[in-house]
Amino acid sequence: MFEQGDGTKLNDDAVTKLCAKFGIELPKEEKGQAVSAAAVPRPLAAAATGPHTAFCPNPACPSHFEYFVDGRRFLRPDREKQDPVGGKFCAICGEVLEHSCPNCGAPVHEGGVCSYCGSPYVAVL
Ligand SMILES: [Zn+2]
Ligand SMILES: [Zn+2]
Repeated sequence: MFEQGDGTKLNDDAVTKLCAKFGIELPKEEKGQAVSAAAVPRPLAAAATGPHTAFCPNPACPSHFEYFVDGRRFLRPDREKQDPVGGKFCAICGEVLEHSCPNCGAPVHEGGVCSYCGSPYVAVL
């Protein structure tokens, strides 16, 4: 019925029962809204954990890839090398790994510069 667009019976009670059946934890403030709203990513959501999600903030770490934009030097962390197992420390130099942008706290993504605040992940002198 829900799949065919008849959402009239989809009330709080039905959503709660469905979530319980499928083992989904329903966030309290999302109750009563469409279930998919809970899956919308937010910039300051908890950072992802697991292999290849963190980066090494040490500018001297030899695993960074160096590149230049308008004569300015940047370092792009190689997260496959630095975070091969989802651990706490850089596999190359031993520095504590970062899971979020040091400047704004947003979860890290591919590349060398945070798309949320524009700050480079690895500070370069
Ligand atoms: Zn490192
Ligand atoms: Zn940022």
